[in-house]
Amino acid sequence: MAGKEEAEPGRPRSVRLNSLFSEDEFIEDYYEAPVGRRSSSCSDASAGSSPQVAGAEAAAPAAAAPLSPVIKAGWLDKNPPQGSYIYQKRWVKLDADYLRYFDSEKDAYSKRCIPVSCISRVASVGEQKFEVVTHNRNFVFRAESDAERNDWIRTLQQVAEERKGKAAERTSMVATADGAVDLVDKCGFLELRGFKNKLFVAVAGDRVFLYKNSEDYRLGIGITYIEMNVGNVKEVERRGFDLTTPYRIFSFWADSEPEKEEWVEAMRQAVAAALSTAEVAERVWAAEANRACADCGAPQPDWASINLCVVICKRCAGEHRGLGPSVSKVRSLKMDRKVWTEELIELFLRVGNAAANRFWAANVPPSEAIGPASGSEERRRFLGAKYRQGKYRRYHPLFGNQEELDRALCAAVTTGDLAETQALVFCGASVSCATGDPGCPSPLALARRSGQRLQVEFLMHNQSSETPRLEASGRAEQLYTVPLPSVAHHGFLYKTPSMAKPPGERKSLEEFSRRWCTLQDGAFSYYESERSAGPNGEIRAEEMVCVAHSAPRAHGLESTFELYTEAERLYLFGLEHPEAVREWVKCLAKSFVPPHAEELLSREFERVGRLHYKGGLSLERAKEGWFALAGSVLHVCSGSGEREEPLQLRKLQELSIQGDNEVLVLVERRRTLYIQGERKLDFLGWVQAIRRAAGSAGDTLSEQQLTEADVPLLVDRCIDYITQCGLTSEGIYRKSGQNSKTTGLLEMLRKDARSVRLKEGEHHVDDVSNTLKRFFRELGDGLFTQRWSQDWLRATALEDEEQKIGEYRRLLGNLPAVNRATLKTLINHLFRVQRFSGDNQMNTHNLAIVFGPTLFQTDGKDYKAGRVVEDLINHYVKIFNVNDQEMKKQQDEITAIMKMREAASSGTQQAGDFICTVYLEEKKTEAEQHVKIPATMTAEELTFEILDRRKILMKDKDYWSCFEVNEREEAERPLHYSEKVLPILHGLGTESYLVVKKQMSMENMLVYLASRVGDCKHGMMKFREERNLLGLGVSTGFHDRYFILNHSCLRLYKEVRSHKPEKEWSIQNLKIYLGIKKKLRPPTCWGFTVFYENEKHEKQQWYLCCDTQADLREWFATFLHAQHGGAVWPSESSRTRAARPPQDSRLGNISLIPLRGNESEMRNSVAAFATDPLTLLRNV
Ligand SMILES: [Zn+2]
Repeated sequence: MAGKEEAEPGRPRSVRLNSLFSEDEFIEDYYEAPVGRRSSSCSDASAGSSPQVAGAEAAAPAAAAPLSPVIKAGWLDKNPPQGSYIYQKRWVKLDADYLRYFDSEKDAYSKRCIPVSCISRVASVGEQKFEVVTHNRNFVFRAESDAERNDWIRTLQQVAEERKGKAAERTSMVATADGAVDLVDKCGFLELRGFKNKLFVAVAGDRVFLYKNSEDYRLGIGITYIEMNVGNVKEVERRGFDLTTPYRIFSFWADSEPEKEEWVEAMRQAVAAALSTAEVAERVWAAEANRACADCGAPQPDWASINLCVVICKRCAGEHRGLGPSVSKVRSLKMDRKVWTEELIELFLRVGNAAANRFWAANVPPSEAIGPASGSEERRRFLGAKYRQGKYRRYHPLFGNQEELDRALCAAVTTGDLAETQALVFCGASVSCATGDPGCPSPLALARRSGQRLQVEFLMHNQSSETPRLEASGRAEQLYTVPLPSVAHHGFLYKTPSMAKPPGERKSLEEFSRRWCTLQDGAFSYYESERSAGPNGEIRAEEMVCVAHSAPRAHGLESTFELYTEAERLYLFGLEHPEAVREWVKCLAKSFVPPHAEELLSREFERVGRLHYKGGLSLERAKEGWFALAGSVLHVCSGSGEREEPLQLRKLQELSIQGDNEVLVLVERRRTLYIQGERKLDFLGWVQAIRRAAGSAGDTLSEQQLTEADVPLLVDRCIDYITQCGLTSEGIYRKSGQNSKTTGLLEMLRKDARSVRLKEGEHHVDDVSNTLKRFFRELGDGLFTQRWSQDWLRATALEDEEQKIGEYRRLLGNLPAVNRATLKTLINHLFRVQRFSGDNQMNTHNLAIVFGPTLFQTDGKDYKAGRVVEDLINHYVKIFNVNDQEMKKQQDEITAIMKMREAASSGTQQAGDFICTVYLEEKKTEAEQHVKIPATMTAEELTFEILDRRKILMKDKDYWSCFEVNEREEAERPLHYSEKVLPILHGLGTESYLVVKKQMSMENMLVYLASRVGDCKHGMMKFREERNLLGLGVSTGFHDRYFILNHSCLRLYKEVRSHKPEKEWSIQNLKIYLGIKKKLRPPTCWGFTVFYENEKHEKQQWYLCCDTQADLREWFATFLHAQHGGAVWPSESSRTRAARPPQDSRLGNISLIPLRGNESEMRNSVAAFATDPLTLLRNV
């Protein structure tokens, strides 16, 4: 063994390095420094422990001796490398496997090592020379004499001939690229001290092979190999490790630390393999049939399946493991010493490969049989068919008759007929069947009583074995089918310790440790190493709730994935190979996703798991569902197996978190889905992933956030803004905006257009118009696509107008849906823009000049690009098949805009105001009003504007107000007269609109406010939380609570006598809507929907229900009074001044209907108003 000093890097110790390498090619390239040849042989091993090698035989590694005795050895001259005339004296040695040459007979490691199997020809080439020909390289040697030369040729030819006759053996693994390389446990490039270039190293079985490069590896021509029975592997530094042998220390460096660990592990296994005792193997091999793999025939199989009683090779053993222990229990003949009891060895001698194959391989068609060189795919298929399906087995005559089979088994186990027992068990007899004998209730007990030791042994190993079943076979078989064999997978993975919170930071490679992982029988286990007896940990499939791919390179490994458990733990695993990680994730997902949701796994999902959610009609109770996120689509499968329509996340109208990070709300046009954070950890992961997926993913059109109409939201937002504010702006789209602003805006919109609100005053029309242009110019693949853009340009050459339009229509049909919709939207917009060319100076031609090169992403020299745009605008109606209704709507909108423009030109309005649709009295087309909303406009002004347009005179006690109606919540809120409309418009969802109508209860409220004493209100209301609605709390529905509302806050008490409020909200953070949606089944029809949002944008939503309408009015009035400092309705004087131009109505005078008469009169009048609210309505 090497001393400690030897391991220290930097110390020169490679005095014999040159002996490791051939001068065949450019020696100097490979040496860092020339070193004295053989100046002090063996000095690299630490003094004292190094055996002095005396001769050639002694130098050969001991373990190699019995396998490969030297057939011929002697000094030969090897032909000089290119450019040299000097022959080199080499000690050449031939054994059954290799022809090797050394610097001297004392060397342990050759300079060249040519597998005999690679030798295609040996021939005399004159002058005592002979040539060894391999597939691609010739080696010429010169002997001392012709006689000596001829003896070499004869011996070599003989050995090569014998080799050809033999089946491929272990040593042939390096021979050719015939798939045999699979025998290699690990291979790749490593630095080796003393060599400038990396060497290609392969660990195979109990040897380590060194090659000059991967090409040589493929050809099989090596430098040397190291017998690992004398090896010792030691980690030295981060990337370095030493392989110490008595003859030499090999100091290797891997590319990375994990790589190093893999190498160290592989080489240590090679040492273990070399040191493993052959005792059991020798005994088991005593039976002739056990000397070749039961499955592929490979010689010297040193693995076994102890329940199937077959001896198998290492490669087959790997596939057996994949079948799972319920099919095959794999053990090593050499390493798993403990399992090999005297009985088990005897069982293998009695049954073994011969008897086992008489049963298992009774009917193997030659076309399906495998050989030692078969690839792993073939092997897996064959072994699955053989042992899992029992496809080739000899059927027992009682097959299909359970009762008879069991009875026969009970009889067989008392005899020495092991073959019968095997046939019965693997044809369906139940190992745990009832024997009917109270003294011996099981076959195992029967065998024990009968003293059948080997039967006992066999039954013990097959207590939990699965009966083979053909997946697609006759009915008789189907009757015996049991649940699907669980998913099995195994391999090495890098793992971090489990976490209780998301891996916020990048985990470096150092934080991962390499573990052997297995997935079988519904358990994912990780072990210290492949050979560890017990796992370090285990995650049962039923504990898993989510598995997800991390972003590539999110951590110190190329590819990682997260596994979440019910117990709120997160496990991070990874590998350098994304494909292998993908396979793991698929297998893990399969193990815990139930069959009814398995369809989800057919997608290329990034994340899959179980969540609670609400959606559709059953909002009352949250249900369990399975979710898979694939790209920007969220697939949902309910617990009962119903598929929900997938959610297109890029088309969401709203994506928000409610409550205390507890509910993720996804609003689509057709529905709302509430996903609950039942467990924090995986829910957070979902929220992040869904948010990411709902954003734009790249620079092509389809990767953007989209509107329902498949138009990028970014385009929609810009066009909308230009339509509102820029139609009449001179030189719109031609004038350039401010570059920095355009850049910033584009970046913002690309990131999340959903959250961007373009506002007048903040964004200049030219900046917005340029943002849109820049978007199209930089668009990946272009609006017309790379594939079709030339066709579009060519179409301009068509002279016949009809023909040309036809061609455009055809090309339009070729575009992807998103491109088509976007093009239509854009041309529609340009069509509108040119209608205002009188103001903006941008006629069709001018627009085409600007947009041609932008859309075709050309330099503007090609006039055809502009022609296309010009044609599209000119023939907009025909090409895009715009129907009359669409045209009319468009016309109306343009008319509205024209009107606005006129109003603007009259000087009272600034350009760039928003235009919005406001309804009069109710939402219907005839009641639509397009109103330009300046930033300063208040609700009161808007109301006047609408009434003015319709020439409606406001009478006394007609409390015309502007309402915000939320259709989704079935609730409405009268805007306070002083509220600014613009911010409300920006905040309106698509299910909300503004309507101007009379506020029926205003008078009653004013009367109440005037008559009450003090400014507080308290009393009972029925309360319901949105949290409950979403199923987060146990209680759903409305509960009586006591409330106190004062000038600053609303307090909730559990009951009247409670001293401490349960909740308290600042009045200023509340928005109170009248009405509660029917779905919630409010106990009365007098309810409020309350939205709470504080400065930190935390949101809540809850409901209040009153017993009477009067009660409702009083609460509402008190609320308004408190929120607006008493100014509930504008005073007469302010009303007259409210006509435009706007005055400072924000000051809003307190204007209450004065209290008249005495208290009882007052009460009576209030009662009169309150008793029948409909009377008021009828009076309208
Ligand atoms: Zn095999």
